[in-house]
Amino acid sequence: MPEASDTPPFMIPTVRFAPSPTGYIHIGNARTALFNWLFCLKNGGRFILRFDDTDVERSKQIYSDAIAEDLAWLGIVPDETIYQSKRTKSHDASVSRLKEAGLLYPCYETPEELERRRKILLTRRLPPVYGREALKLSDAQKQAFEAEGRRPHWRFLLPNHDGDPFETKRTEVTFDDIIRGPQTVDLASMSDPVLVRADGSYLYTLPSVADDIATGVSHVIRGDDHITNTGAQIALFEALGGKPPVFGHHNLLINATGEGLSKRKGALSIGALRKAGYEPMAVASLAVLIGTSRNVEAVASMDRLAEEFEPSAASKSAARFDPAELATLSRALVHEKTASDVDKILEEIGVSRNKKEEFWNCVRGNLDTVADAAEWWAIIRDGPDTSERVGEGDLEFVRTAFDLLPDGQFDQTTWRSWTGLVKEQTGRKGRALFMPLRIALTGRTSGPELSDLLPLLGREETLARRP
Ligand code: GLU
Repeated sequence: MPEASDTPPFMIPTVRFAPSPTGYIHIGNARTALFNWLFCLKNGGRFILRFDDTDVERSKQIYSDAIAEDLAWLGIVPDETIYQSKRTKSHDASVSRLKEAGLLYPCYETPEELERRRKILLTRRLPPVYGREALKLSDAQKQAFEAEGRRPHWRFLLPNHDGDPFETKRTEVTFDDIIRGPQTVDLASMSDPVLVRADGSYLYTLPSVADDIATGVSHVIRGDDHITNTGAQIALFEALGGKPPVFGHHNLLINATGEGLSKRKGALSIGALRKAGYEPMAVASLAVLIGTSRNVEAVASMDRLAEEFEPSAASKSAARFDPAELATLSRALVHEKTASDVDKILEEIGVSRNKKEEFWNCVRGNLDTVADAAEWWAIIRDGPDTSERVGEGDLEFVRTAFDLLPDGQFDQTTWRSWTGLVKEQTGRKGRALFMPLRIALTGRTSGPELSDLLPLLGREETLARRP
């Protein structure tokens, strides 16, 4: 695994996608990954896949592997892959720096104590912001806690005061968000973030900033649930001597009932969409274009999607994701594919070499997924399965019709001339004529154009389907 370089190439726009490997990624996470990837393609940048795996309990290698595989399937190829869990030394150095600057202080409150204080503030109609009580502890009090076995967690002292941390004042952090435009966060409205837990492990905030600095991240593009974090993180960038990157916060996706998508619930995971046979570019198109001022359409290639990508086209409110839309987009892409695009799959399902093109052109318009072609190849090769049979009342008609099949080589015109003759001889027309024939030929009530199917079957195979 390559280590993040210590001399970041600042000149190249550098982005990172930073999932916590605590579950499988879903289409909402893919949106974040793709916003970064498309930004990168458009600006000739570098893409880092960074696993935010500081939560050792919940982070699992199987999830990291699955995430990398899902990204590859979508067409995202990271320039570098980093695991935060392997960068602890660098995070420790950042902690020392903050401690030396007096910007990281030990706190001994239990979660219950904090909750009690929060409730008191709320009943007094005050904002539930941490009051920095730990800063008032004397050395003796701290030692007493330690003697009791309590270990401190550590908070970052936000720069929202003029020297007296108990006299906070409105402190606006402003940034020009490449998606949402100018943003302001007031550092006096938030609690000093906990950076290090009592067991010494890191919460997300510090490793993220330390790694962004170390790896030369120039643009942080992520969900808009991080906007407040960004205020605190900009202060942290400055405290650690780093230049804050440019930020972009995109709207999140919600499901049909208005809930956010959850990695833990496995909702609409990319792996599940892949297994269901959806086209990767359909997933990518929807993940990117939904909730923007652009039309949602199936864009066939990542380069074209990158050309169309405009971060500021994303709307500010959450976007509702409808899986049915995915099916429509995916189908559209399948129908546009050529036989050579799907050659590998045709090979796998055993389509004879000389029939690949004819077969694909015949069936593609009826497929939901490329894999569904297998079913049609089986019908063409082995005859109809038993799903639909010619009805009793149609048997005589179908037999007569088969007896009228023309001699010689079948081509595109055969269906027309054959059914013309059948109509003349039997008096049947329209659906009453073609549906029993379709069922006899394919065992299905819908499917490819029969004028395309007949030459593919050939005379002998067609005759073999006479009931
Ligand atoms: N691991 C964080 C998350 O999944 C990353 C946020 C960020 O991009 O900074 O929310």
